Amino acid sequence: MHSVPDRAQRAAGALVGSAVGDALGAPFEFGLAGDFSARFPVPGRGGEMCGGAGWDAGEATDDTQMALHVADSLLANAGLDLPDIFGRFQRWAAAEPKDIGLQTEDVLTNGMPWDLAAQLHFQVNHRAAGNGSLMRATTAALYFAREGRAATMDAARGIAALTHGDRAAWEGTALFHELLRLTLAGADPLAAVPQTLALVHPDHRERYATVLAPGWHPDDATEFNGAVWPCLGSAVWALRTTASYEEAVRAAVDLGGDTDTVAAVTGALAGARHGIAAIPAGWTAPLHVPLPGAAEPGRTLRLADLTDLAHRLDAPRPG
Ligand SMILES: [Mg+2]
Repeated sequence: MHSVPDRAQRAAGALVGSAVGDALGAPFEFGLAGDFSARFPVPGRGGEMCGGAGWDAGEATDDTQMALHVADSLLANAGLDLPDIFGRFQRWAAAEPKDIGLQTEDVLTNGMPWDLAAQLHFQVNHRAAGNGSLMRATTAALYFAREGRAATMDAARGIAALTHGDRAAWEGTALFHELLRLTLAGADPLAAVPQTLALVHPDHRERYATVLAPGWHPDDATEFNGAVWPCLGSAVWALRTTASYEEAVRAAVDLGGDTDTVAAVTGALAGARHGIAAIPAGWTAPLHVPLPGAAEPGRTLRLADLTDLAHRLDAPRPG
C-alpha cells in the first residue's frame, strides 16, 4: 500500500500517469476489447510496456506530445496565449509526428488564422466532437488548477477550440480540467461529478450526465471511443471501478478502440488520485516522449523531465 499522496505527488502522477497510459495503449490502438488482458492476463508480471504497431516500447504518442507543447507555451508566456499554442501545434504538425488526428491535421494545415481554422472545419464537416482536445489536456489542467474552477474550465474551452469547433469537445475538456483540479486538491472527483455537471453548458449537460453516471459502462456507449463523450465516460468508469493506478489503466487499454487516448485520460485522473509512487516502475522506466516541433531538435522527455515539468506547472504563481 502507498501512503496518501501529497499535492506534488498527485501533480507528477497526473502528467506521468497520462504519458504512461498513452504509451501503454499505443500498440493496442484500434484493437478489440480484451486484447490487452489476453496478452497480459496477470497484473504486475512486467513486460506490458511492449511497443508495437510502429511504436517503441515506452514511446508516448501525439496525445502527450501536444500536451507538452501546451506546457511549453504556458510556461514561456507565463499564462494563456492561444495564438502561441496554435503556432506551436502548427510547427509540431509540420515536423511529421508519427501520429496525428485527421481533424487536428486539417485544422493545423488549412492555412486559416488561429481563431477561424477550427470553426471553419466544423462548419464544413459538421463533425468535430473527437477526443483530440481531451487527450492533450493534462498539462493545462495542472497549470490552471490553482486559479480555481471557473478559470480552469474556461482555459480548457479556449485551448480545445483551437482545433475543435464543436462545443461538445470544449465541455468535455472543461469537465476533465475540473475533475483533475479537485483530485489534485485531495477531493474525490467521483463524488463531485454532479456539481461539476452543473457548470457544463446546458446544451451539453445531459449527454455528459449519461456517460458520467455511476451505472454507465463503456459497453453502453453510442459512439466509438474516439469521440469525446465515451472517452471521458470510460476514463471516469475506469477510475470508479478500480482501486489502483495499474488496474485503472489496464481496464482502459482493455476496452480496445482508441486505447492510447482513453488510457492517457484515465492515467491522468488515476495518477492524480493514487500519486506518482503508485505507477509501476516497469512502466515509467522505458517511458519517453519524442517531441517533434520543439525548439531544440531531437528533444526527448523522460520520467525525470516529466516530473520536473509537472512540478513547474503546479507551482504557485505570484499575483
Ligand atoms: Mg495518440
